[in-house]
Amino acid sequence: MSMRGLTKAGFILSILAAAAAFGQFPSPTLPETSTKVSNHIYMTSGFPNVVYVIGDTATLVVDTGLGNANGATAARVAKRLSKGAKLFLTTTHYHPEHASGVNSFPPETVLIRPAIQQQELEKEGEQTMTFFRNSPQFAPSLEGLKPLRPPDITFGDDAKLDLGGGVTARLMFLGAGHTASDELTLVEPDSGLISGDIVQNKVVPAVASSGGSFTSWLTVLDRLRPLNPKIVIPDHSKVGDGSLIAAEAAFIRDMQARVAELKRSGVSAADAATRLTEVFKMNYPDWAANTDWPNVSSMNGFVSRLYSEAPK
Ligand SMILES: [Zn+2]
Repeated sequence: MSMRGLTKAGFILSILAAAAAFGQFPSPTLPETSTKVSNHIYMTSGFPNVVYVIGDTATLVVDTGLGNANGATAARVAKRLSKGAKLFLTTTHYHPEHASGVNSFPPETVLIRPAIQQQELEKEGEQTMTFFRNSPQFAPSLEGLKPLRPPDITFGDDAKLDLGGGVTARLMFLGAGHTASDELTLVEPDSGLISGDIVQNKVVPAVASSGGSFTSWLTVLDRLRPLNPKIVIPDHSKVGDGSLIAAEAAFIRDMQARVAELKRSGVSAADAATRLTEVFKMNYPDWAANTDWPNVSSMNGFVSRLYSEAPK
């Protein structure tokens, strides 16, 4: 691994470690319950939210939960909700709470993800997994985990699944953001966007992979805007409407501009983080108070990353 890679990796782990040290991540144990989001979309709220898209002949599950037991929970909920026998599974990104429950799904489940996401999982998955295994909060969920099964189908930028009864889901890779290979899913008849970490509801965003970037993240958000979804279903926060896309972009752009200004005037990355955490608490009080995510402690990593991406 290059020095640059090492630095980035250390940085990502430090974000996770900072939040974990405060014990602010929600429990990774998924409840065996679901709520209806829209006509064909259900979700289990947890860490992360697991989303089920129900067609007449097939079901699509988005994300697995952390490890075997959570994967089994998601698979049982999917089975109860399903109308048809066929089961598709996909993952918003390769991080363990989204992808490491895959082995507990029935063997006939069709696992589909962007090819680039599979490559990133193979390249960086073990490193993130090691962090989770070293966390007292997450380690128990990963006990007994075997190597993750490979996908049955990979795609480039776009794939469409027909789940029957007019329920179609468009699976998209629109560019790097939180990771190098975030997937977004549009459930067409419901105008529902399953947005992963790319569009969240009042959550300080994090680049958490060596291939992610905020510059690219903003491009992805620009490409999402014309889809104009009625509903946005994030992976670590509450369901909202299409305005979440603009809110996400506005937040990143606001902080990006502040960081660039501070960097230009010679303020260090550490001082910029301290100052902008105060600005955050002042200007975004409802974000700071959102208990879905350790937002205030996440500002440090967020600002550091923006600083490293800002022009010299
Ligand atoms: Zn993630």
